[in-house]
Amino acid sequence: MKTIETDVVIAGSGPGGATVARELSLAGKNVVILERGAHHKVRGNVAGPFSMVEKMGFTWSREGLNMLRALTTGGSSMLFCGAAIPAPTWLLEKYGVDLTPFMEEAEKEIRIAAFPDSHIGPGARALMAAAHALDIPWEPMKKFIRHDLCDVSCPVCMYGCRKKAKWTARDYVEEAVKNGAQLINRARVDKIMEKNGQAAGVLAQTPEGELAVRAKAVVIAGGGLGTPVVLQRSGIENAGQGLFADPLVITYGVYGGPEMDMRKEIPMCCGKLDNSHDGIIIGDLMDPLPTFLLQMMYKGISHIPKSLSHSKMLGVMIKIRDEISGRIYPDETFSKPLTPADQQKIDRGIQVSRKILAQAGCKPETIVSTPVRAAHPGGTAPIGQVVDRDLETRITNCFVCDASVFPEPCGLPPVWSLIGFGKRLAQTRLIDAI
Ligand SMILES: Cc1cc2nc3c(=O)[nH]c(=O)nc-3n(C[C@H](O)[C@H](O)[C@H](O)COP(=O)(O)OP(=O)(O)OC[C@H]3O[C@@H](n4cnc5c(N)ncnc54)[C@H](O)[C@@H]3O)c2cc1C
Repeated sequence: MKTIETDVVIAGSGPGGATVARELSLAGKNVVILERGAHHKVRGNVAGPFSMVEKMGFTWSREGLNMLRALTTGGSSMLFCGAAIPAPTWLLEKYGVDLTPFMEEAEKEIRIAAFPDSHIGPGARALMAAAHALDIPWEPMKKFIRHDLCDVSCPVCMYGCRKKAKWTARDYVEEAVKNGAQLINRARVDKIMEKNGQAAGVLAQTPEGELAVRAKAVVIAGGGLGTPVVLQRSGIENAGQGLFADPLVITYGVYGGPEMDMRKEIPMCCGKLDNSHDGIIIGDLMDPLPTFLLQMMYKGISHIPKSLSHSKMLGVMIKIRDEISGRIYPDETFSKPLTPADQQKIDRGIQVSRKILAQAGCKPETIVSTPVRAAHPGGTAPIGQVVDRDLETRITNCFVCDASVFPEPCGLPPVWSLIGFGKRLAQTRLIDAI
């Protein structure tokens, strides 16, 4: 068995793990990042996401909920829309976790900001006008996209930004590597090594065989689905007992107004972002054609011809704050039933989407909603149960830093909060531990 020694070993290179790696390498610490996925090329075409996403997108809960996650350097941020939403206020109010200074630091470093009008496309504007006419609060979103580097006529935002206008966690990994961190791809962490209740490193599987990384501290950052499996295999059995997923539905209508192609617009520019009252956020979003076609196939064979009108459609996405339900199993399968309350929220969100689309000028008979799917797994190693407020597990110097630590469902895009968690962990508790 090959063995490496380091200060800190990090399992997973999504927003949580990448931030910790960057911060500690900047502070001169020795860091090893073990990433289960390959270092896929950013292609800027449809082949990009399909190569990075687990099982090419065909991952389902035991109940049949489609779940998307990327296994690659940078994790799911390699597919993300770049929407930057502040941390939920209840993190501080109920749990005493203040991410504010760390999120402000990230805001300046990454240049997180709302787009100027020039970057908001005609489809997004039509939806904003319709929402305002219906008295629905609808505002421009802050984005992880540097608008001065962004080419608005380039329609490949979610396929992978070739202009480096969109920040992804891979940017932080690359910075960490420049500062001396070691990134090992195709290395799946299976188990935490423990000595007298203290973390001693991890064991991982690589194509070359088993790898042991001995370290003073361990950070598990495999994401909401990956982390609980490692914890369970390491004897932390209460990990993965529940799961939130922020289920989403996109509703489409064929636009009857002047010609426009919303597929060529930057996704998730504007929307209703406050979910504190009804647990629902709404925004502008279109699936790329291959994904739209798949969604119509899942819906039923008679819906497939709707793909012919895809270029003339407007799309409205709803995402709900679901209840924690189901569980992750040690064999990596998972259960995620939608509760009756979740289903009611989804139905309400779809009704609002239909109203907005009709108000924007879509013919009601053309309006169609996709099946429910999810892309934000979390809550599987929650603060107060599996980790403490400093994100430490019951194994001393073994931490978790990813979407698993949220103690409640978010219902909001979580990446900005995860960067806040990563900075806070690295700059406070971890720096003391090594
Ligand atoms: C299509 C899509 C659009 C999205 N849009 C937005 C958006 O606009 N704004 C936003 O805030 N969020 C968005 N999200 C959600 C966001 O990308 C995720 O919530 C975020 O990436 C989660 O970060 P994480 O650090 O928890 O884990 P992940 O990003 O899941 O990263 C975990 C990493 O760990 C690796 N890993 C897993 N297990 C192991 C192991 N045992 N050993 C080693 N490595 C392991 C995985 O390969 C992966 O690379 C989107 C997600 C998707 C799929």
